[in-house]
Amino acid sequence: MKKLHGVHVPHNKNTAGMKPVRLPIPASVVVPMSMGIGAPAKPIVKPGDAVKVGQMIAEAGGFVSANIHSGVSGTVKKVAEMMGAMGRPMQTIEIATDGLQETYEDLQVPEVHSLEDLLKAVKDSGVVGLGGAGFPTMVKLAVKDIDQVRYIVVNGAECEPFITSDTRTMLDRTDDMMTAARVLVEYLKPEKLIFGIESNKPECIKSMNEAISGESRMEVKALPPMYPQGGEKVLIYHTTGGIVPEGKLPLDAGAVVLNVTTLAVIGQFLKTGMPLVEKVVTIDGSAVKEPKNVIVPIGMKMKDVFEAAGGFTEEPAKVLYGGPMMGIAVPDLEQPVLKSTNALLAFNKKDAVLPEPSVCIRCGKCIQHCPLNLMPAAIESAYKKGNMERLDELKVNICMECGCCSFGCPANRPLVQTNKLAKAQLMAWKKAKEAKK
Ligand code: SF4
Ligand code: SF4
Repeated sequence: MKKLHGVHVPHNKNTAGMKPVRLPIPASVVVPMSMGIGAPAKPIVKPGDAVKVGQMIAEAGGFVSANIHSGVSGTVKKVAEMMGAMGRPMQTIEIATDGLQETYEDLQVPEVHSLEDLLKAVKDSGVVGLGGAGFPTMVKLAVKDIDQVRYIVVNGAECEPFITSDTRTMLDRTDDMMTAARVLVEYLKPEKLIFGIESNKPECIKSMNEAISGESRMEVKALPPMYPQGGEKVLIYHTTGGIVPEGKLPLDAGAVVLNVTTLAVIGQFLKTGMPLVEKVVTIDGSAVKEPKNVIVPIGMKMKDVFEAAGGFTEEPAKVLYGGPMMGIAVPDLEQPVLKSTNALLAFNKKDAVLPEPSVCIRCGKCIQHCPLNLMPAAIESAYKKGNMERLDELKVNICMECGCCSFGCPANRPLVQTNKLAKAQLMAWKKAKEAKK
């Protein structure tokens, strides 16, 4: 099988060998109702209500949405809006903690005897895609025709530099992962469930190979350590050989893709009834005093996480949700840990400054590196000219914003940033055109 394009990035997996440590519970948490793709959840608690760990505090606001549960015990302080990292206001529930971390007494271990039971359990667990986008997992698993599911691909690539939270899942939560894997195989009936893990994580490959011993429909595949190996389309190709047709979904290539930590959360819920309430988060970057993996409740503010994790060596000039390739820079440290947060990286001034771009030298490296064979330099040119027809022809809409083009550009052109703007502009142009019809 040929390799898709991509780039070799410095791995910087400084924390891979560090077991996650549980941080002290902060005085309060702020839980956003919107933590990924889909409709915001609707609060079902009000100021003054007492809540416990695992208790549902907001219900899914539509089919593509997810329930939210409290990761702390305490009292609801307020339900209010705050500005999110993407520059959009979001509704939040603030909870003053009592430090007792009492577990909600009505948690129930789900009974799963059918695919419908499994989908209900996944919905009740509040789990969303924990590899980044936060798409509700129940929606992904609610396939119309299970004969379409030839493969379940479990994403253990973790190809972004610095982040090691999935590595820790594969080393520390194998049992939870296998509980979910067996149930998924039983009710979705794929030909194979394949764990895709980059070959630079031999300890994870070993751990998962031991875990699947005797499981005839499961397989571990070592993948080339190349960014963006964890991109859905790249992962499906390298694990199954399938190609997701342009503008289509993984299921059109016979695959359902789940992240390793998503799998572990489903397994934990099936065993204990405890929904998704906390995350393992990698804390790293040049401004961080003590890089490590930590366990924190969803909603813990970044400033509390960094402080409890050991603080900064110097004032950070840039703080990211996620990795340096696809992470989102945050405007302030009041932003909370979200369901999909797998890393918080803080960089000093030297590392935060982007190099000055120079003129394009037409070397074609951006095209060579693009896993989707797009033409980033041509996209940039069309965007500058406001040529929407050309942007459409160049298929900027399928850009997965992986950043390989920018990373490999010798002229330091901000290609991925331009692509994001171009995608938004093209979408608005198409909508306006549709409205005129
Ligand atoms: S990699 Fe950079 S310099 Fe080379 S063609 Fe692309 S935009 Fe131009
Ligand atoms: S054009 Fe998009 S998909 Fe291609 S390398 Fe750049 S960011 Fe990645």
